[in-house]
Parts: sequence; C-alpha cells; structure tokens
Amino acid sequence: MVKDKATVVIVGGGATGVGILRDLSMRGIDALLIEKLDMVNGASSRYHGLLHSGARYAVKDQEAARECIEENTILRRIGKSCVEATTGMFVQVEGDDPDFVEPWLKGCKESGIPTREISKEEALRIEPNLSRKLVVAYEVPDGAIDGFRMSWQNLQSAARYGGRYKTYTEIIGVNIENAVVKSITVRDNVTKEEYEIECEILVNAAGPWAGQVAHMAGLECNVSPSKGTLIAFNQRISNRVVNRLRKPSNGDIFVPHGSITILGTSSITIPDPEDTSTSWEEVEELMKTGEGVFEHLRDYRILRVFAGSRPLYVPKGAEGGRNASRGFVTIDHEKEDGLKGMMTICGGKFTTYRLMAEKFCDVLAPKLHNTAKCRTAEEDLVPEVPEAEKKAARQYFPSYGVNLAATRLGVDKFGDVVKTLKEQPETREVLCECENVTMAEIQRIAAEPTSHSVADVRRRTRMGMGTCQGNYCALRSAAVANKLFKNKLEGCNDSLGDMKNFLQARWKGITPVMAGKTLREAEMTRGMYELLFNVNGGRRG
Ligand SMILES: Cc1cc2nc3c(=O)[nH]c(=O)nc-3n(C[C@H](O)[C@H](O)[C@H](O)COP(=O)(O)OP(=O)(O)OC[C@H]3O[C@@H](n4cnc5c(N)ncnc54)[C@H](O)[C@@H]3O)c2cc1C
Repeated sequence: MVKDKATVVIVGGGATGVGILRDLSMRGIDALLIEKLDMVNGASSRYHGLLHSGARYAVKDQEAARECIEENTILRRIGKSCVEATTGMFVQVEGDDPDFVEPWLKGCKESGIPTREISKEEALRIEPNLSRKLVVAYEVPDGAIDGFRMSWQNLQSAARYGGRYKTYTEIIGVNIENAVVKSITVRDNVTKEEYEIECEILVNAAGPWAGQVAHMAGLECNVSPSKGTLIAFNQRISNRVVNRLRKPSNGDIFVPHGSITILGTSSITIPDPEDTSTSWEEVEELMKTGEGVFEHLRDYRILRVFAGSRPLYVPKGAEGGRNASRGFVTIDHEKEDGLKGMMTICGGKFTTYRLMAEKFCDVLAPKLHNTAKCRTAEEDLVPEVPEAEKKAARQYFPSYGVNLAATRLGVDKFGDVVKTLKEQPETREVLCECENVTMAEIQRIAAEPTSHSVADVRRRTRMGMGTCQGNYCALRSAAVANKLFKNKLEGCNDSLGDMKNFLQARWKGITPVMAGKTLREAEMTRGMYELLFNVNGGRRG
C-alpha cells in the first residue's frame, strides 16, 4: 500500500544523509529521509568526533587534507554549538621517526593548514599530562564535533525548508518497473507496519550498509565496512586534540569531548556493519600505543569501549582497511548500471559531510531540472539562543546548566523548556547531574514524536552520557520519560523495562574492560540496581 511520496527519498540518517536532506531542501527540492533506527545510529556517532584540520592526511592525501581544512572552517562557522574549538597538537615522542616531520610540515603548508611549533616546555605547561619523552610538538586547528547534535541540527535546518524525516523506518525493498525506480517498501520498526513510499529518485546514503541497500535493487556496490574501536575515559586528559606525528596508524588520536576523552582507533575489515563488538586485545593495543603519548594513561578510569564501521568504498582490485581511500564516491546508477532513479553516495569523513552533500546534490538537482546553487555553507544550521534570553533564564538552571541546555536545545525548544521551568518549579529538578539535564528538558524531548525509549532521549539530551554513564540518572529519567512516549519500542513498554534496556546497552561497552577502577564502578552499579532496587526481582539477570 502506498502511504507516502516524495520527489527524493534518502536512505540513512547519518551525517551524509542529513547533509543531503538539508542541501536538497534548501535548493527547494521535496525530500524525505528515512532511518532504520534512531537518527545517527551508525558511523556518525560511533566515531572519534575529531573535526579534522586535515593535518592527518597532509602527507598521503593532500586533496583530503585541503577539503578538511576548508570544511573545518565552514563547520566552525555554521555549527558553532556543535564544535568545540579545542585546537590540536601533533607530537612525537622518543623513538618516533624524525624524518616524518619535514614532509608532514611541507604537506600541511601545501594544503593550507597552519602549523606552529611549540617548545617542549610550553607543550608540557599547556598539556601537563603529556609524556616526559616528548620530543617535538606542533599546533594545528583541529577541533571536536558532537556528531549527534550536528546531525540533528541539519535536520532542524532542513525542516525549516520543508525537508521531512522518519526514524525507525527501514527500507526493505526497491520497486522497479522497466529499469526505473518507482517506489520503495519500508517497515516501521516501532509498529511493524510495512508500506510503500513513491519517489522519483532514491538516494542510498546508508554508509557501511550502502552495499546492502544497493543489493535490494539488484546492484553491486563494493562497500567494505572497516571497524574501528574507541575507548572513552572519565575525564579530559588534555584540553587539545592530541595526535601522534607519524604515518597514520592505530591508537594515534586523543579527542577531548566535554568532560571525557576518546582514544582511538583501529581499522579491521568486517563483513557485517552491525558488528560493533570490541575485545580486550583491541583495548590493550590502543592502551599500549596511547601510553606512548600519555604515560599515566592507565591511571584514568575507562568509561566504556565502543566501535563503529567506516563506509569505505573499494573499487575492484583496490586495497581495503587502513590503506583504502578516505575519499567519497557518487554513483549514478543510471549511468553505471542502467537503473534510472537511484544514486549512491559512500565513503568520506564526518568533517567533509557538507561538501560531500554539495557535490552530490550538484549532480542530483539537474536531473530534476533544478538549477539552484548550494547554500549550505552560507547559513548557520540553527539560530543561536540570544545572550539576553540565556541570562534571564539562568535562575532556573544549575550553575553551568544554562549554556549547556541552550546549545543542546536550540532557540525554539530552549524557550519551551524555560517556560516549563518557570511555570512548574518541580521540573527544575536535575535528573542528570553529569550533563546538567533538568526534568523539564527530559520531558520536552520525551514528548517529541521521534522519542520511543530512554536511549532516544539520551542521544538528544546527553543524559547518561557523562562520567556516571547512567548509573544515577537512568532510573529517574526512565520514570519521567517513559510515560510520555506515544509509541514505545519493543521491550520498553514500562519504565523498568526501558531502564533495563538502557543499562544493558551501557553494559555492553563496559564488559570488555571489566578490570581495575572500571570493575569497581560496575560492581557498584550492580549493587545499586540489583541488590538495592531489586530490578531483577531477586533473580540474577
Ligand atoms: C571508528 C571511527 C572513527 C572515525 N573518526 C572520525 C573522525 O574523528 N572525524 C571524521 O571526520 N570522521 C571520522 N570517521 C568517519 C565518519 O564517522 C564517517 O565517514 C561518517 O560518519 C559516515 O557517515 P554516513 O552517514 O555515510 O554513515 P552512517 O553514519 O553509518 O549512517 C548510515 C545510516 O544508514 C542507516 N541505515 C542502514 N541501513 C538502512 C536501511 N535498510 N534503512 C534505513 N536506514 C538504514 C544506518 O542505521 C545509519 O544510521 C570515523 C569512523 C569510524 C568508524
């Protein structure tokens, strides 16, 4: 049964898909994005969150390096509240190859990436946790991006131009007549209903799943998912991004995000992008390498370990894994395979998602006789909350809460939350202390039609993402949020079930590193929930 239609349907709610939805909508093209789970389910959240300056690619791939520095400048401007302008350092420690420095500096210069040499004394003064074996340090304009927030802000921006999106909507079939795509069949993963959506052009932006979506249309698209493992520590080890100055390898980069630090990553080719498993061996490899840069790394508590898959496109005969290109491809299946009405985009980096969308839409738009130019670099993603509004609202928030809430919520939702805080003082209760999230904010987000579980609320508010990882806030947040969901995900029918699912997902990231301080913390959580709250009803679960 046909239930919906759009001129363009985009499959995949990662950075690539949301960037395309925003670009098309701003050009005046009617577009709908579908995502099989919650938005930003794939590589765009299971990643390092480094806003590349391009310096990492300066020796091997100067085109990528140039694209990164240009987009780095644009994203800082249009997505201010999603980027932490930390700057970055490239460092060598004793034993690193000194001959790598000169070609790297030359590559940065040729790619337009500014570098500044920092004396060892200054480097250790501004980043005192760096190894005493430090030999050289250079400053570059790296930064940190919040992948969830930037993706949601692209959706908000697209919506202002008529762009639409549906979460928990999975493509399960492509309906083709006489070598032309007519519609797609989707399944609503909340209600389990199946229906058709008519479209003129189907865009496959399913990242590491792009090969599977192409297969539904009977096409071959050689996407090689490359899994990378990342470790989150319970505090900022450095205030700047710290990269190892050497040929890109595993465990080279530390990125500070808010109150935590992420170390990564690795590159293992895997058959199925759903595989987000991690192992003690991978963690040990990252820790050993990381200790080269921060010698006291093992003193920090590991919050959790997680993994995501890069959507690497591998042309026939080329190499996958770490040696595969980090560039992106646009495939027009009409030209390549004789199938009208379907295009695929694959590869690239989060840092360059906007540019990828621009280049892709420059090919797509003329097919619909649309000649509008890309404007995504000219306009901010969302309007910022005015300072005066934040100042007036300060009285309702915890000390540091107002700025955090303003950047998370954006101008419209911030206004709603402040109104609730003012009129219903009981909603000023802080449900998540680590991230300063009030009850009013949890209620506002839980009432949105795209919220179906506490985990959905977590991704929008950062509730449960700080140093306690949900230990203290999961119970309170589930009690408040669960009753507000219009449709609930399977297993999340009541607040207890929802909270258990939430904690179970957090648990997955802790099991591979269950030792030392992390084990102590895990035992405390188990003690609280199982023994004190008796969440398993006296059974071991
Ligand atoms: C470990 C790791 C570290 C990284 N670090 C960085 C970094 O620091 N900086 C940087 O710039 N880049 C980084 N990257 C690269 C970057 O994350 C990716 O290039 C980018 O996020 C890819 O976005 P995407 O939208 O193409 O794919 P994804 O984000 O994976 O999105 C694809 C979406 O398609 C959805 N989907 C799949 N199948 C279907 C279906 N049948 N129906 C509907 N929806 C479907 C998925 O659920 C998913 O949400 C890293 C990648 C990894 C894996």
